[in-house]
Amino acid sequence: MPSMTRSPALDDHLARSLAALDRAGLRRVLPHLEARHGVSLLVQGRPVIDFSSNDYLGLASDPAVIDSVRLGLLDGEVGAGAARLISGNRLEHDALERELADFKGAASALLFGSGYLANLGTLPALADQGDGIYADELNHASLIDGCRLSRATTLVYPHADPGALRTCLAESAHRFRRRWIVTDGVFSMDGDIAPLRDLLMLAREYEAWVYVDDAHGTGVLGEGGRGTVEHWGLCEGPPDVVMGTLGKALGVSGAFVTGTDTLVEYLRHRARTFVYTTGTPAPLARATRTALERARTDPQLRDTLRGNVSRLRGALADRGIAVGGDPATPILPVRIGASEATTSLGSALLSRGFLVGAIRSPTVPVNQARLRITVSAVHTAPQLDALAEVLGELLPVARTGS
Ligand code: PMP
Repeated sequence: MPSMTRSPALDDHLARSLAALDRAGLRRVLPHLEARHGVSLLVQGRPVIDFSSNDYLGLASDPAVIDSVRLGLLDGEVGAGAARLISGNRLEHDALERELADFKGAASALLFGSGYLANLGTLPALADQGDGIYADELNHASLIDGCRLSRATTLVYPHADPGALRTCLAESAHRFRRRWIVTDGVFSMDGDIAPLRDLLMLAREYEAWVYVDDAHGTGVLGEGGRGTVEHWGLCEGPPDVVMGTLGKALGVSGAFVTGTDTLVEYLRHRARTFVYTTGTPAPLARATRTALERARTDPQLRDTLRGNVSRLRGALADRGIAVGGDPATPILPVRIGASEATTSLGSALLSRGFLVGAIRSPTVPVNQARLRITVSAVHTAPQLDALAEVLGELLPVARTGS
């Protein structure tokens, strides 16, 4: 028998990593929410206002959406029981895909279990060894992992910088058989918007295809809520592949990819996170159809959201608090810097009745920890004003302590 050095017990090995996270102020805890309705939470028996969710239109608690789940259950089934290509396909899936394609102005759409799975399945299906992927440095983890799985060469360009991307393409495009530009539409932790018009121009010039993850733009950006493509007025010449999520502004769960009929037919065969996984429960697909109907036919929802964003931005500016991001998105990042100071500020806000995301490494680069405030159409004016007031009080203390 070969001699081996004895490994420590698995738990000891893992506990050392957890202790290192503790020392770096990066240990995370699951917040235990006992109840939620809209932005009103109950946390350890205390009422808390949620400023951390991506339920931007309040559709997760919309009575019509909830009723649709109930009605869907009357069909006598929760789980689809199998992958859609086997026996898990339902009329609700087909109808939802048609409606999503129509909403996005695309020929076809394909449902996935989540945004993470959509990126993890679609990128490796499309890009392969010998291809080059040009990826924004702040792309979401699921895009990063999708690029890794694809076996293409990934080149990372500086955030939202078409000039730098052009240099990168000019130097390296000839090395690759095919080229992809891959970007978030709205950057989830920074709340800014990809310069899609410039990226599409570069794609034409260097014969590249463009893949956009519009998790945070879908339902929110543009007059009709069609997302980043509509925001930039590019509906006539959109990116080749657009991913959107159903668990953020649409308030339910899952994701979809839109493009041509051929693209979607190809993904039905090649996207492994579509082929080898159980279909979405039909009652959820039904609820998503209702949420989509609400999002597309009630422009008041988006108007209210925009009003809320500008009210909070204004109230924070009045207190001298600098907020990053694009005012068209409901994501308001407030840079703090150190992880510990950000965590303490998050805890202090919670004890004052506000749940705000305290975002640290590895979600954002080291020393760029921040509060990520997200606004919803269902926040009230007093709730928005109260957060600004309390933040105005707590922020100077957190910063001097950091
Ligand atoms: N892409 C982006 C940009 C995201 O922010 C997220 C969710 N945080 C995802 C993909 C993953 O979506 P889902 O939560 O549906 O898995």
